[in-house]
Amino acid sequence: MTRRRLAASTCLLFAVARGEESTITLRGKLTRREGRPAALALADGKTVPLEGDEQTTGVLRDARLDGLEMEATGSLTPGGSLRILPIHKRALFVHQNRKRLFVTYWCEVCAIRTYTPGKCWCCQQETALDLRESLDN
Ligand SMILES: [Zn+2]
Repeated sequence: MTRRRLAASTCLLFAVARGEESTITLRGKLTRREGRPAALALADGKTVPLEGDEQTTGVLRDARLDGLEMEATGSLTPGGSLRILPIHKRALFVHQNRKRLFVTYWCEVCAIRTYTPGKCWCCQQETALDLRESLDN
């Protein structure tokens, strides 16, 4: 074994020891069928169901994203779903007009940004979907 390969496999061992699963990034159209979780329809014809934490699941339930080209990073479950990384890792994007956009929600009244759909915690109005190129503004 060469020194470089040894270093690489040592790295992998450390990653496993730290509990980091290998992640993959998939890109496809967000689709859903009645009563089923949202899924990504990949270019090769495969459909991969998506799951995630509570806030990510909230985004996946947002019908405003249906049919959009999305990118998700996570790990494959034994059942063949993609478990998306936690919401703070920013692992879910929309691709639109050759741009990679963060999925955010915005309350114009309070100027409050959130990362899952629902009512603004301040004024209780429904937040608006706001796809953004950058998170600083
Ligand atoms: Zn508000």
